[in-house]
Amino acid sequence: MKIGFIGLGNMGMPMAKNLSKAGHEVVGFDLVERQSKLFLISDQILDTVLDKDVVITMLPDGSSVLSVYSKILENLKPDTILIDCSTIDVLSAQKCASLAFESKLKALDAPVSGGISGAENGTLTFMVGGDSVAFDCVLPLFDIMGQKAILCGKNGAGQSMKICNNMILGISMIGVCEAFSLADKLGIDHSKMFEVVSAASGSCWSMNTYCPVPNVGPKTPADNDYKPGFSTDLMLKDLSLAKDAAENTESFTPLGRSAFKLYKEYFENGGKGQDFSAIIKFINMKSS
Ligand code: NAD
Repeated sequence: MKIGFIGLGNMGMPMAKNLSKAGHEVVGFDLVERQSKLFLISDQILDTVLDKDVVITMLPDGSSVLSVYSKILENLKPDTILIDCSTIDVLSAQKCASLAFESKLKALDAPVSGGISGAENGTLTFMVGGDSVAFDCVLPLFDIMGQKAILCGKNGAGQSMKICNNMILGISMIGVCEAFSLADKLGIDHSKMFEVVSAASGSCWSMNTYCPVPNVGPKTPADNDYKPGFSTDLMLKDLSLAKDAAENTESFTPLGRSAFKLYKEYFENGGKGQDFSAIIKFINMKSS
């Protein structure tokens, strides 16, 4: 396929590289100068999207995606499919889809889970919102960039799913960190704690796969001085999207709201740029 790829940052660049390595004709664009030996990078956004079968965006937020869509939509060929892989708010995702439909184009929201290593290794999980015809057309691209793509419902459903998933992740990471902090005070050894909980009813991804203490379980950012991984900055962004979505839908999410507040406090007090599991340092500091 001929693919335009807009947003070549930490996630977009390796995703675009994987598409190119798989034999697709990729042209990329970013506001910042980027270089790749694998595919062409244009300094003109319109050259990037002209005559393409698919245009993928991987951008920081809803306003950047809306601003890119407003520039490109009139210049796409009629059957181009737009895939937005950024994590953005549900309302912006729905607005993007409406703008695309007005231009007689199909759009999917397809945020990802799996982080930078998932983008590099082609093992992302895509949570997709949109219609099944467009989804089936681009499934081979999801299969290159990821290990799983799930159609979750109509436009906006991918973003809704991502927000719910990451709200669970933020809450569960705090839960695991609190438990380690309490276990310390009770004189329980970290490796014993991991051995028991990872095989008991407290087991979860934050404990078993992404353990927030060093030298226990599989290698995680905790074993690399809490270099991200998935940063506190991005966790705070996703919890903020969850909080907004809960307010917009009058949903009762007290733990999601508390997780947002705690990550905000940590972000403003040393957490910026740290892996999100480093919140254990903040929790330990508050305990003593
Ligand atoms: P990033 O900041 O590294 O990359 C974003 C890129 O978009 C930058 O290169 C920036 O210059 C470019 N950009 C911004 N506005 C633009 C515009 N108008 N036109 C063209 N380019 C523009 O961010 P990232 O880590 O690659 O994350 C991208 C998206 O993926 C975000 O929505 C993030 O929440 C989501 N995400 C990130 C991770 C992760 O681990 N990094 C994991 C899951 C989801």
